[in-house]
Amino acid sequence: MSKHVTHWIGGRPAAGGARRRGDIYNPATGKVAGTVDFAGRAEVDAAVAAAADAFPGWRDTSLSKRVAVLFRFRELLKENADELAGLISSEHGKVVSDAAGEVQRGLEVVEFACGIPHLLKGGYSENVSTGVDAYSILQPLGVVAGISPFNFPAMVPMWMFPVAIACGNTFVLKPSEKDPSASVRIAELWAEAGLPDGVFNVVHGDKEAVDGLLEHDGVKAVSFVGSTPIAQYIYEGAARSGKRVQALGGAKNHMVVLPDADLDLAADAAVSAGFGSAGERCMAISAVVAIDTIADDLLERIRARVERLRVGPGDDDRSEMGPLVTRAHRDKVASYLETGVREGASLPIDGRVHPVLGGGGDGFWLGPSLLDHVTPEMACYTDEIFGPVLSMLRVPSYESALELINANPYGNGTAIFTNDGGAARRFQNEVEVGMVGINVPIPVPMAYYSFGGWKKSLFGDSHAHGMEGVHFYTRTKAVTSRWLDPSHGGVNLGFPTNG
Ligand code: NAD
Repeated sequence: MSKHVTHWIGGRPAAGGARRRGDIYNPATGKVAGTVDFAGRAEVDAAVAAAADAFPGWRDTSLSKRVAVLFRFRELLKENADELAGLISSEHGKVVSDAAGEVQRGLEVVEFACGIPHLLKGGYSENVSTGVDAYSILQPLGVVAGISPFNFPAMVPMWMFPVAIACGNTFVLKPSEKDPSASVRIAELWAEAGLPDGVFNVVHGDKEAVDGLLEHDGVKAVSFVGSTPIAQYIYEGAARSGKRVQALGGAKNHMVVLPDADLDLAADAAVSAGFGSAGERCMAISAVVAIDTIADDLLERIRARVERLRVGPGDDDRSEMGPLVTRAHRDKVASYLETGVREGASLPIDGRVHPVLGGGGDGFWLGPSLLDHVTPEMACYTDEIFGPVLSMLRVPSYESALELINANPYGNGTAIFTNDGGAARRFQNEVEVGMVGINVPIPVPMAYYSFGGWKKSLFGDSHAHGMEGVHFYTRTKAVTSRWLDPSHGGVNLGFPTNG
């Protein structure tokens, strides 16, 4: 049965037909599973208007009442986690257990946001001058927008809206048009939790919807997560129209393996972090940087593990890795295997011949692959592949590994595998990357830290969630007050000083 997904505006599904629609695929079969409405300016205006109407009431809702809604939302997310994971898997392709992990990491941001009364405390100084007190308060911005990528249809929006809404803002989400259903189910859960109509809205679509939000005077801040060219476009466009902006971009994550590392641990990590979610994670390991002396040994351990990996439909319990998100993306990722070999790399692990449980049919399949002897000028290294392709680079020393990473334009995540604490400490200090793992391949920060990369992996000043999220979604007001002081000294045109 074909499904149809539409916008969620003012606490209910939008009425009326859409001018434009997109197809939603089941990546495991390659078949169209439904359609999604694409918003134009009218739908964006309606969503922003609903959010603007809801703002004064939500801003003035007490912290205790806001938190009560957040706690209920948290419970509902937990109760409905399996359903959400199933929805994500059916449109994205990732295996259900992996989708459940993404729901869990999003839920942790909701739990962080449940502590908002503590996080929104300002400062207070008594007697900054005689009988004068000074204090600061954190106030919401108004209507804020989030634009998210296909690869985490639940978790990435949940990096944004729990904190934004807890701070008293109202929210318009524009999720990826490739897997839009989770966002609407989340909107229903918000409504069930008692969130007032209009506080959380969803508009679907593509560039037209994004540009509508970017150019809308009523939107005060934009959070974006996606590829680097679009992140830069969002950053520049939002800044031009005077909005606060955080735009998280693409990645090329390196994993350095030093000779003293536990090579079984490193091989497990490379396979898990390279091929989990078919490599469609912004924190996926893409480049394995091995010191020459252990590279052959590491490659054989990786190969042995890859041979055992079960690739198949996301809803098959036996599957460890699913298909890619679209046919076009699958073909682009596979093309790097050809260009890599043409440019001089070897292909010891070719995912095009990896078996697929159930045969695969017309699904968007590409098995785990590894290009070896990759060098920095090859396209498979310079481009973000965003698929199940590991590139192995062989280097003579720690210094050359570090130089390679620091010269790379991206700086999202990285990891080092070693048993030398001194080397690990040096790496954490010297590497120019926002998120660092030490014997941990996917160092995604917990909700109470903040998530974000450096260099071309982030445009803007704030990382997502944690205290940086609270700061992003609030503005500080500093108040100076005098009560009960009759000795104000009369008229004085001089600049106020303290006494
Ligand atoms: P994308 O940049 O193609 O799309 C992201 C969002 O932007 C979507 O909502 C999409 O509809 C919209 N968009 C696409 N083209 C646009 C255009 N021309 N103008 C305006 N809006 C446009 O990214 P994607 O393919 O959905 O996701 C994968 C990318 O996201 C990868 O590069 C990955 O590294 C990155 N990502 C980064 C992080 C991070 O935290 N840094 C997290 C997840 C994903």
